[in-house]
Amino acid sequence: MITRTLSQLAAMAGADPVADRPELVVKGVCTDTRNIVPGSLFVPIKGPRFDGHHYVAEALDRGAAAALWGRGEPGRPDHPAVMQVDDPLLALQRVARQYRRQLAAKVIGITGSNGKTSTKDMLAALLSTMYRTHKTSGNLNNHLGVPLTLLGMEEDTEMAVVEMGMSGLGEIEALSTMAGPDAAIVTSVSEVHLGDLGTRDRILQAKLEIVKGMRPGGLLAYCGDYPQLAEGIARTGYRGVRQSYGVEESNRLHPVRWSADDDGFAFQLDEEDPEPFAAPIHGRHQMVNALGAIAVARHFGVPDRLIREGLRGAALSGMRNEIVRAGSCLIVNDAYKSNPSSVRAALQTLYDFRKPKRRIAVLGDMVELGDESEQLHRGIGGELDPGRIDLVVTVGASAARIAEAAAPRFAAGRVVVCADKAEALDRLMEESLDDAIVLIKGSRVLGLERIVETLRRRE
Ligand code: ATP
Ligand code: MG
Repeated sequence: MITRTLSQLAAMAGADPVADRPELVVKGVCTDTRNIVPGSLFVPIKGPRFDGHHYVAEALDRGAAAALWGRGEPGRPDHPAVMQVDDPLLALQRVARQYRRQLAAKVIGITGSNGKTSTKDMLAALLSTMYRTHKTSGNLNNHLGVPLTLLGMEEDTEMAVVEMGMSGLGEIEALSTMAGPDAAIVTSVSEVHLGDLGTRDRILQAKLEIVKGMRPGGLLAYCGDYPQLAEGIARTGYRGVRQSYGVEESNRLHPVRWSADDDGFAFQLDEEDPEPFAAPIHGRHQMVNALGAIAVARHFGVPDRLIREGLRGAALSGMRNEIVRAGSCLIVNDAYKSNPSSVRAALQTLYDFRKPKRRIAVLGDMVELGDESEQLHRGIGGELDPGRIDLVVTVGASAARIAEAAAPRFAAGRVVVCADKAEALDRLMEESLDDAIVLIKGSRVLGLERIVETLRRRE
């Protein structure tokens, strides 16, 4: 993590020069008094419900060596290492931007509607077979998470994999400009944040902003299975190296043979491959994410032998196709996030399991879809395959539209509408789940992971 003297930090942050103890060494940055790193810089962030300035004195008491302070904010503690800046968040971003430029590390930026965290975790697993690799912790992918990720790099970090998320235009450009990626991956483009952005074109435009901060000549990898993404990338006129990946043969990097089933995915990139690339990760969409990671790992010289090794040991963050065992029942816990394309990916994962006794799909509301919400829920309902799903349970008012659209094609009693997760759980408790696969998929706010926990405890 960043280690600089107080006077260096003041200069980087654009703060007033410090008169007292300018040579004091400060190590690390934190924004939350619940986990203060001793000797670090505390940065007060203002949110809708809280103001970090109220916690500065406590942070210093708990061991922070220094703090930033927004000029004009009342109640500044009388402490020699409290440095005044225009806006602490902007100052933090300035420090991060400069720190990144002071290090020799290569930065890889990852954006897209779905699959950022999964791709980030896989890419870091591949790069760390050969390089000292740093990555975004969890999902810290916004205007605060990205600077904190950059500031978490060590002086000798060689590779940093940085996830970049957005909920509006201009955000990815700001993050990319801060991080200056040497390579980037655009994983996908779909209706996530349609409610915020209004049109699919703007969603695409927002993702492609990543190009604006890239270093000249860097690799831009993108999933070419989304034709609009390929077209959008072409329109950017990006002059560095572009590389498409995906299952479709039209992609520069695509598998010549592949499988995705109970054991995870496996594929060959070349007929001559001595052995397949494989990971115990479920879902063909995760295989596609792995292809994106491979494109970048190869670009930075990681040999296939190490890529295979890294992939075998790769693990995803929780609630993304996480497989949970409950006796003979397998639960696919995908309760982290939901939108049309990730529901499709999750359903495909459910279908790809080899012949369980029953397949059950528990589908909750997809939030933030704006005016098209009803139509998009109906669309999913229309796609559900009665030949491969034995029971559909919808959870929530929007998801009821999924049920409405599905019901005419399913036998009576095989589509059940539940108002909330408690009702869904009661309904599932009545079912025999022996040798069943249960997909649990819904937007995070529904908290469907509670269903997973209860079913697991039942066994
Ligand atoms: P967030 O915007 O919340 O940070 P993310 O882009 O980081 O999300 P992940 O956390 O990797 O995405 O995955 C979120 C959900 O999307 C999971 O349900 C996962 O299975 C699904 N998913 C992952 N990759 C893809 C993909 N390439 N296409 C469709 N769905 C995907
Ligand atoms: Mg994420």
